[in-house]
Amino acid sequence: MLEVLDPATDKVVGRVAKATRREVDAALDAASAAQPRWAATDAATRSETVAAIAEGLRAERTPLARLITMEQGKPLTESEAEVDYAASFFEVASRESLRLGDQGLEVDGKRVRVEHRPIGPTAAITPWNFPLAMLAKKTAAAIAVGCSQVVKPAEQTPLTAVRLGEIAVAAGVPRDVLHVVTGEPEEIGEALFQDVRLRKLSFTGSTEIGRLLLTKAAARVLPLSLELGGHAPLIVFDDANLEAAVELTMIAKFRNGGQTCVAPNRILVQSGIHDRYVDALAERADRLTSGHGFDAVDLGPVIDDAAASKIQHHIDDAIEHGGRVVVGGGRRTIPGLTDRFPEPTIILDTGPEMRCWREETFGPVCPIRRFDREIEAIELANRTPYGLAGYVSTSSEDLGRRVARALDCGIVGVNDPRPAIADVPFGGVKASGFGREGGRLGLDDYLVPVTVSEVR
Ligand code: ADP
Repeated sequence: MLEVLDPATDKVVGRVAKATRREVDAALDAASAAQPRWAATDAATRSETVAAIAEGLRAERTPLARLITMEQGKPLTESEAEVDYAASFFEVASRESLRLGDQGLEVDGKRVRVEHRPIGPTAAITPWNFPLAMLAKKTAAAIAVGCSQVVKPAEQTPLTAVRLGEIAVAAGVPRDVLHVVTGEPEEIGEALFQDVRLRKLSFTGSTEIGRLLLTKAAARVLPLSLELGGHAPLIVFDDANLEAAVELTMIAKFRNGGQTCVAPNRILVQSGIHDRYVDALAERADRLTSGHGFDAVDLGPVIDDAAASKIQHHIDDAIEHGGRVVVGGGRRTIPGLTDRFPEPTIILDTGPEMRCWREETFGPVCPIRRFDREIEAIELANRTPYGLAGYVSTSSEDLGRRVARALDCGIVGVNDPRPAIADVPFGGVKASGFGREGGRLGLDDYLVPVTVSEVR
């Protein structure tokens, strides 16, 4: 068995099975057998089933949110928002799956049809930062278009995934169509990759593991979707509404304690607003409270000791290279809880020579840098191997659009701290991966166009 710990207390909050190779094979046996039946089920029934999963999630909003907080640590209100966000993916997939259609044309006296078929049995490997939502994105699309799926959640947060599996079955998904397997990542990953019946794998996680999976996929030409790390820039221009710029930063940066792949990791602030922005942000960040996610706090613990050490290391490294800490810089001690509570931290005069500018910190740290010219900010913003999210804060529509176009990333929020919604595609460019989740394009990720040409 695999023990699941509450990251705030280290108490065991649940146990899940460590799937053996044989169990993973059995899940794939069942998923492959179920695939043609599920693909042949009419679209309206599948769409209704997927909508019923959304209803199931919303009906269990509070217990599910508690489960997320218990194994992942985020504040309960954020877990509730995660349940809503996850449900919205099922709602959108339910709606969009009814709009898929074949295309037909007559060419050279031939009748040609392009059919969009479910790709086949799929697998999903998901991370711990959004135990429900990251899985919902993949499962909603796969199930809606007629694919079976074997799911491997992160070892830190498997309980929510197991519950999602149960809710899906209760909503009418045939038992063999969706399987949640928990256990050792390498072992399960290996079993999945070696099974030729698997036709697609969708992964959300680190760029490092994404690269590894890409190598494994190459050996058998397995289609992948990869949603990997990010290193989002936030550019605050002189003309920005100060309050709105600070609010954007607070939401985008401190949600989930900074443990999101879309969190701003480099904050570029124009000289004219720099000092006022820093003062206002410092005042807000300093007031953030930390504690157990059940206790109405702003920040929960980070996921584990390695995460807490990495954050501290990034802060220390920034200081060593000339960064000036104006808020935070260490950890908070909270009686009765673990020491995984990094202080909300603001560091000025940061730059590319620092680790926090090159690697994802995944913590509540705001590295700030002053700039003067627009071109300089854009050049710095794009100077990264990553390209997932980016943010712009300005009151000029022209400037916002121009900079959004210039940013080399998959999703841009102009004065919007939450640009990622279920209705639109989400995904990265460069080392942030490929493939899209959300909206109609998210369904395409699980479909293959097949051309049938008839001569009569
Ligand atoms: P993080 O650094 O956020 O924990 P990871 O990329 O390590 O992200 O993990 C994301 C997901 O990938 C998790 O479900 C994890 O168990 C899984 N994973 C990690 N290593 C492997 C591997 N070698 N094969 C398959 N899955 C893996």
